Amino acid sequence: MIDRHRLGDIEITRIVELEEPFLAPDKMFAEATPEAIAPHLDWLLPQAMCPDSGRLILPIQTYVVRTPHHVALVDTCIGNHKRMAGFKRWAGRDDDTWLKNLAAAGVQPEDVDFVFCTHLHLDHCGWNTQLKDGRWVPTFPKAKYLFAHEEYAYAERRAREENDPVFGDNVLPVMEAGLGQLVAPDFVINDHLSFESTPGHTPGHISVHLESAAHHAVVTGDLIHSPLQCAHPEWNFLYDEIPDLARRTRRAFLERHADAHTLVLASHFPSPSVGHFMRQGDAFRYRYVTP
Ligand SMILES: [Zn+2]
Repeated sequence: MIDRHRLGDIEITRIVELEEPFLAPDKMFAEATPEAIAPHLDWLLPQAMCPDSGRLILPIQTYVVRTPHHVALVDTCIGNHKRMAGFKRWAGRDDDTWLKNLAAAGVQPEDVDFVFCTHLHLDHCGWNTQLKDGRWVPTFPKAKYLFAHEEYAYAERRAREENDPVFGDNVLPVMEAGLGQLVAPDFVINDHLSFESTPGHTPGHISVHLESAAHHAVVTGDLIHSPLQCAHPEWNFLYDEIPDLARRTRRAFLERHADAHTLVLASHFPSPSVGHFMRQGDAFRYRYVTP
């Protein structure tokens, strides 16, 4: 699936690798009991919650950003042939739909100038590399891959201490090919693109800002996973690694961007994913924008 949005002189294309029922609400968020989600069922069903399984629907997707000068990818989904202990359905995929959709959006791998990963979980860095003749090689041979240094250190530590394969499969081969660069979490790439430190889900998590004239958009990454967290910013996702910080970061982000014309490019909100945060009482709601 592909859809497009325009932001001044920037074109944003959303490329979905997969979108399917993921986990039951109370498996994603401990507080999301049937009683707690009952008031939200009217908007959750069927777009955000599968009526058959009762699981919340979660896309894995990339935002392709075309400025007048560059092509950048924000997050690179799961990829093929990857190792993954937690979610078995993400491991060992063999499906070129994502690459085909990228081509259909007019982007060949050699056209990509920048790759950004909001953080280094597999569903955000998997297509960084591909398996060629038994070796992981960068998928985007001319790109500069920018990693926030704290996130890089965290992924490297998980590889060392927990035998986690994400760093070795998706990050280290990029560095060894000379295409990687470690940057500050508030790094400014150019007039159109910059990072913001949004830690909590992981220690070095960033969000990516897009600016064109008076227009502003932001890719959330995993500081928020579901529109349910607009109504309940205090609900942490099961895998938010620094829980108190994740809550603080999410609340502050919602406060900053609600009713503020910021176009929100949500990483895991169900399609069409893009929208605006709106204030509602002392919390928020999400208003989708049709592409
Ligand atoms: Zn994710």
